[in-house]
Parts: sequence; structure tokens; C-alpha cells
Amino acid sequence: MPENILIAIAWPYANAEIHVGNITGSHLPGDIVARYHRLKGNKVLMVSGTDSHGTPVTIAADREGKPVEEVYKKYHDGFIEVFKGYGITYDLFTTTHTENHFKVSQAMFLALKQNGFLFTQKSMQWYSPSSGRFLPDRYVEGTCYICGFEGARSDQCDNCGNVLEPEKLINPRSKEGDVLSESKGGALELRETEHFYLDLSKLEPDVKQFLRERAEHMRDTVIGESLRKIESEGLKPRSITRDLDWGIPVPLEGWEGKCLYVWIEAVVGYLSAAIEWSQLSDVKARAERSEPDSERSRSDAWLEWWANPASKHFYFQGKDNIFFHTSMWPAELMGAGEQFAEIFAPPQPSPHGKAPSPEGEGVKLTLPYDVPANQFMNLEGQKISGSRNWGVWGRDALTRYDPDALRYYLTVNMPEAKDSDWNWAEFVARNNNELVATWGNLANRVLAFCYKNWEGYVPSVDINTLRPADLDLLAVIENGFKSVSAELEAVRLRSALGEAMKLATAVNQYLDQTSPWSEIKKDKAEAAKTIYTALRAIDSLKVLFAPFLPFTSEKLHQYLGYDTPLFGEQYIEEVEDSLGTHNVLRYRPLALSGTEGQAEVAWKPSELKPGTKLNQPSPLFKKLEESVVEEERARLGKWKK
Ligand SMILES: [Zn+2]
Repeated sequence: MPENILIAIAWPYANAEIHVGNITGSHLPGDIVARYHRLKGNKVLMVSGTDSHGTPVTIAADREGKPVEEVYKKYHDGFIEVFKGYGITYDLFTTTHTENHFKVSQAMFLALKQNGFLFTQKSMQWYSPSSGRFLPDRYVEGTCYICGFEGARSDQCDNCGNVLEPEKLINPRSKEGDVLSESKGGALELRETEHFYLDLSKLEPDVKQFLRERAEHMRDTVIGESLRKIESEGLKPRSITRDLDWGIPVPLEGWEGKCLYVWIEAVVGYLSAAIEWSQLSDVKARAERSEPDSERSRSDAWLEWWANPASKHFYFQGKDNIFFHTSMWPAELMGAGEQFAEIFAPPQPSPHGKAPSPEGEGVKLTLPYDVPANQFMNLEGQKISGSRNWGVWGRDALTRYDPDALRYYLTVNMPEAKDSDWNWAEFVARNNNELVATWGNLANRVLAFCYKNWEGYVPSVDINTLRPADLDLLAVIENGFKSVSAELEAVRLRSALGEAMKLATAVNQYLDQTSPWSEIKKDKAEAAKTIYTALRAIDSLKVLFAPFLPFTSEKLHQYLGYDTPLFGEQYIEEVEDSLGTHNVLRYRPLALSGTEGQAEVAWKPSELKPGTKLNQPSPLFKKLEESVVEEERARLGKWKK
């Protein structure tokens, strides 16, 4: 039975370029796990999008003197380019600025309100009389009333680390003083405003219970930042609306000029993107595959993941977002309950007659299964920083290196348990000593040797004549499917890749012992057994490496004579709704084969047939010159977009 797997990846803010730390922090680990489950024949839905609302985006627009819509789209289109280039196979990478996301977020808000988890409260906030608007927390800076630091934000002091009460800030000024006129002598004033609060304290017992049930398989770093923190500090109500005009309006009369705050709204994106994916017509893709269009509208397909307690939801993000994914979002899901679907759209029976939720029962939204948050990646010993231009930028790195070389280093160096460091000398060494020497050369020398000496065919050996050493090697590789699977399912990706690389080493040792290069001169039939065994092992390793190194595994797959690919294709589509148009990145899965709804299971040991026609091979990876290290270090801080 295929499982339903949701891969949910944190939504990047539309105010900064994607760097290697972002890629290894969430997008790449999510993609590796998604690809693994697709190879296993599971039904994967991988979603994310651009967080287009909120203060950071309006600040960026003010700074650039451009309409905020233009600014968010510029970053959004750049994200799509990066993810396509690195092979991050989103079924849908969309944006929060869509009609659908507005509706879903507002339905979530109304469901929480209906269930009694929202209350309103008045507070004092800084207001700019000259620009006629309230200034959100990040817009206002001043002197910290606790430590005297002059550059404190109105809600938090980065010097002493205290959370501040905005109204107590000394000498407040707007952060973008050169944009807003009150900096030129105009004064900010405190005005009363009213906001909605999510009563997290009411949901605290449910959130704790939810976390306790998952504590065993969740990372200790994540439990430390969630369950243990809640046990010592409790959960407090949080305001979930802001005085803003760029965002999703509070869907109530009398609340004009107020929007949902981004960190209640952005997490709703995991649900709204699944719904948008369901609604997007697949007509074009179906026509290209010459499939009948009879089944869809798939407008209820999202229920297979979201109203299905057996589906597994994985949330990938950096350590700074643990609270939102382990506490805030589960609290929203539990608090909204069955009312969400009732308010948003009552479920329709599925076209296959197998409605995901039984008749007469409401739709309970599925809770996260795992939240494998990563720590941070630094660069050459320093924090990656956009303002100092200290970063290896996603788009820039792709202009000089192959995506699999980058994916390899970002996986072996993934900050799973503690912060890691991108080091150019290590990048070159790992590429040359591991990726090229251990795996790439193995595949290439065996394939090239076979192609030359057996005229482009897999040697026609009788499988029953394989020797004990051959069978031993194949058994070791077959076992690898279990050990690598176990690591992937627990989201220990460094270890999973390490296991696969160990198996490549075992094949190299086998070849050192059997030495087909000299064996062939004495007895070609014996050498044929060795080469056949090695090709079978390489064919299996190709699958084990595929989630990590999809581009080169696909090439190798083709060299080995297969005519259907391992993976589907990424493509970009323009979508139109009442808010305008936006581009989305999508993934077209392989056409289903076999019985209805069943994908082919590629995650299994090789069954390569003797006598199979091969295709002309060429090396999978490039060796890098040592001079790359100094060139790249000299380039740091100088990238121009
Ligand atoms: Zn302070």
C-alpha cells in the first residue's frame, strides 16, 4: 500500500537571495526525502512558496522605492530559478499572495474564532502621523530601556536579548528614516490599537500531548526547543493581527486596515498550497502524456494528505522556526478542527468513490509527524550575512558548479545536529576524494571497460555460474537498501549518504581483488562475471544515490540502457487569479504504470539482465583544481546580483 507523504518546507521571505545555508537548511533535505519516497512508490506531495507579506517585504520595497508587489515577484521568480537549478522537486512552489491562500487563511482564522481560541485586546503602538500609519515592531528603533543600547528594535533588544514593551522604548525613531518623513524632526506618537490574540494557553495541554506522542522519533534539538521549553515556560497568547495594508485582511466588519500577522498566515501555506495544487488544472500535462482528462478537476485531492490520519507530514526548516512548526501550527490545526473544512468548502465525494473521510464525519486536519529542523550553516567560520554579502549564493554557485557536486557537499555537511561550516578547501577535497574518486570513477571505469570490451552490451553470463565473491558483493549491496532506507526514514541524511558511499567503497575493494583489467587477458569469461557483478552493484548504487544525486543518477540510468527515467520533470507555469498572475514551480511525476494509482517501485536491488544494450558512457563528475579554493575565497563579499 503506497503511503501519502507530505513534504512541507519553510516559506522563504521575499526580501533576500537564497544562499547555501537556506538550501541545506530545509529545501535540500526536503527534496531528498521526497525523492526517496517517490522511488519507493509512495504518493508524495511537496509544497512551499514565497512568504510575500509582512514587514520585511514592505521594508525592502520602501528601500528600493518600488511597489511591494514588484519586489516580492522579483525575489519569488529568483527562488524558482534556484530551486529548478538544484533539482528541488516541488509539486507546487507558490506564493502567499494568491486568492486561494487568502481564502484558506481567513477560513482558518474564522474557525479558530468560532471555536473560542481567539480574543481581542487593546494595546499602545507607535504611530507615524506624517505617513498616517502604525509602524510595526521592526520599523521602530530606539534606545533600550534595560541596557541603554541605542539600536534596539521596539520589540526586542539585540544587545541584552530582552523582549521589550514597545511603549517604553527611549527616543523612538522609524528605522527607514530616510523614507518616512518623521525622521526629519517629526515625532512618533503612541496610539491605542486593538488586535486579535491566539489563546495558546488554552491549547497548551493539546500541544504538549501532541509533542509527547512524537518525542521518541523527533530530534532532541527540536524537542528541547519545543516540549521542554513549554514544560518550563508554558505557552502564552500571541497577537495574530497587525495594522498593515499589505497582507491578508482580517475577514470581519469593522477591522479594515488590519491584516493577519505573517507567522500565523505563512504556516497556513502548507495547507493552502496543497489545496492550490489540487485545484490547478493538470490539463496541459495530461494532454502531453495523451491521457484522458476525464477524472479531473482534482479539487479534493488535497484531502488524501490532509484528512488522512495515516499520511505522514514532514516539516523542514531552520532552528529559528521550530516554535512555529512544533507549537504554533499544530495549535492552529487542533484549534480550527473540523470547522476549517466546513467554513472553507464542505468536502465533495471523491471521483473514485473512496472518500478520504467517512460519511457523516468532519474533516480533521492531519498533524505533523516529524519536524526535522536543521541548525545553521556558516561560511568560512563566519555567519552568512546578506547585508555584508557574506554568502555562497544559490544562483551564483550554479554558474560554476554542477548541481550534484553542490548537493553532495551540502548533504555531507548538513547541519543536522549542530551548526556546520561551508569551507571551500573542504568542498574541493570532498568533491575530488569522495564524489569523483570513490563513486564517479567506479561507475565510469566499469562502464567504459565493459562498453569497449563487450561491444556496448552487458556481458552475457549465466547468472547461475556467479562465484561466491560475486554473490557476497551483491548480498552486501542488497542489504544496503535496508540500512539506507532506515536512515532516510529517520531523516538522518548525512548518515544515509555515508552508508551509500561505504557500499561504493565495497565495490572498489571487490574490483581491487578480482582485477578484471588483468583477468580479461587470461580468461574473458571469468572477467565477464566480474564486470557483470560490478554493473549490477553500480546499477543498485545508482538508486541508493538517486535521492541525493538525482542528475548524475539519471545519466547513469541512461548509460545502463534504461529507456524510462528515474524521476519526473520540473516545470514553471503561470497562474492567474483575481489578484493577478504569479509563476509557480511544479513537478510532473512519471506516468503511472501498472494497476490503478500505483507508481513503479524503483527503490530495489538491480535486476540488470545479461546482454542488455548499454549507451555510450562518460564521466559523471568533474575533478576540481586546487586553485578553486583561492579563487572562491577572493570572490567572497563581491557577488553582484
Ligand atoms: Zn537592551
